[in-house]
Amino acid sequence: MAGVKSAHGAAIVGSGPNGLAAAVTLARAGIPVTVFEAADRIGGGARTLERVTPGVLHDVCSAIHPMALATEFFREFELERRVRFAVPDASYAQPLDGAAGPWAAVAYRDLDRTAQELGRDGAAYARLYRPLLARLDGVQDAALGGAPLRIPADPLGAIALGARALEQGSGALWNRRFREEAAPALLAGVAAHAVGRLPGLAPAGVAAVIGAMGHARGWPVPIGGSRAITNALAADLIDHGGRFETGWTIRDIGELDGFRVKLFDTSAPALARIAGGALPRGYARRLESFRFGDGAAKVDFVLDAPIPWADPRVAEAPTVHLGGTRAEVAAAENAVARGIHPERPFVLLAQPTEFDPGRNPAGVNAVWSYTHVPAGSDRDVSGAVIAQIERFAPGFRDLIRDFRVTTAAELGEYNANYAGGDISAGAISLRQILARPTLARDPWRTPVQGLYLCSSATAPGPGVHGLPGWYAAKSALRNEFGMGAPALGITG
Ligand SMILES: Cc1cc2nc3c(=O)[nH]c(=O)nc-3n(C[C@H](O)[C@H](O)[C@H](O)COP(=O)(O)OP(=O)(O)OC[C@H]3O[C@@H](n4cnc5c(N)ncnc54)[C@H](O)[C@@H]3O)c2cc1C
Repeated sequence: MAGVKSAHGAAIVGSGPNGLAAAVTLARAGIPVTVFEAADRIGGGARTLERVTPGVLHDVCSAIHPMALATEFFREFELERRVRFAVPDASYAQPLDGAAGPWAAVAYRDLDRTAQELGRDGAAYARLYRPLLARLDGVQDAALGGAPLRIPADPLGAIALGARALEQGSGALWNRRFREEAAPALLAGVAAHAVGRLPGLAPAGVAAVIGAMGHARGWPVPIGGSRAITNALAADLIDHGGRFETGWTIRDIGELDGFRVKLFDTSAPALARIAGGALPRGYARRLESFRFGDGAAKVDFVLDAPIPWADPRVAEAPTVHLGGTRAEVAAAENAVARGIHPERPFVLLAQPTEFDPGRNPAGVNAVWSYTHVPAGSDRDVSGAVIAQIERFAPGFRDLIRDFRVTTAAELGEYNANYAGGDISAGAISLRQILARPTLARDPWRTPVQGLYLCSSATAPGPGVHGLPGWYAAKSALRNEFGMGAPALGITG
């Protein structure tokens, strides 16, 4: 395809939350922006569609947004003034079998209430999170505040985070703190968001950061679904002169010859393929070897009624982690890492209807879930997922009106960034947290002038927070235009 003949200043390839964050930042600085999106609609991992039954909306990818109200980009963008969020008192729950019948550990925003309901381990659990909450801004800065190669703004926050990651991420230490099942199970469920072996430093770090957000600011549900976040970013971009080209897959960097800067909201290997010979060989090799992780396989349900959880407190949490005890969750995650589909998998479930009742017609309950599977799996996981839900919510099966499976392989076809079903666009290992995609002070900037990577394959990684896009755009403004970052607020 011939190069785009355009006087436009910046091309953004991909319209996920990071592509849009980059686009908004550049457009706000007065740079003409065009966003190219392979799919026929924008949003990447933040789209909400009729997936199972006409008239019933499901989030295709992101559903619950621990970082939407907490992180710096969205705070500057004043997302909370543009999108309505429900912020439940409970952030997530971990149902357990229990000797006296099924019950659950629940993480509330209120740490004291969480600790109280955890029984004998409550005080130890509170001691784990309290130092993180006391220095939350510092903890967030250490985890999300920019390139890993930098001096943290609050070294004590960074130390608190590191200490907890070491404790809960190391086989020798993670059994020391707790005496019962509930508290470690609650931690295992959050750690398993990282998709990988347990215990591990990276999953323990994830549990410390997003767990602390759950206890401080909650895990918000956007009213109307994750597309509300996409729509807010897109509206701001249009207001500032940006434009979209959908249904346009960029396959060769030459297609963008007319643009002064190019920011890629793609995976690292995809940038290596598209930019081809333009990249220095060593750098291209590092992008090519950026490793994808294991996959996610989704099952979206339409139910006749809310899920009949055995412990009714589970209904109070927007996110439910299913898998039982920490040992069971670890066994399931470690099986996936060995290429096995576990019989009793770890399942992440979101029940937005309880918190956003206006999203769908009355009487319809839309439930979103996914489980971890080996990379590239094309297995229908619905049987195992339904069994795990039924285990903690007897009668669930009878409420299913319809459901739809998306295999890990299909997820990779739906969005090229999720190759093999890896929802993080690159495995969350310690190595790939530090070198995302390469170990550098400015990991978003490539050695080629004007060329940037801005997706979740760059620091600080996955989730709907817009940070990689924002950091990449700020780097481009500084390095290509000699400009500082623009104001992003509604009146900015
Ligand atoms: C099943 C699932 C559940 C998730 N749940 C949550 C959650 O609950 N909360 C949360 O915070 N995060 C969640 N995530 C993660 C979150 O969605 C991602 O981390 C986030 O969307 C990454 O944003 P991004 O902009 O980097 O990339 P993406 O959102 O993946 O967007 C990339 C875009 O680039 C486009 N693209 C790629 N290559 C090209 C090309 N060559 N030309 C043109 N366009 C191209 C793609 O089509 C896509 O639209 C989930 C992800 C998945 C898949």
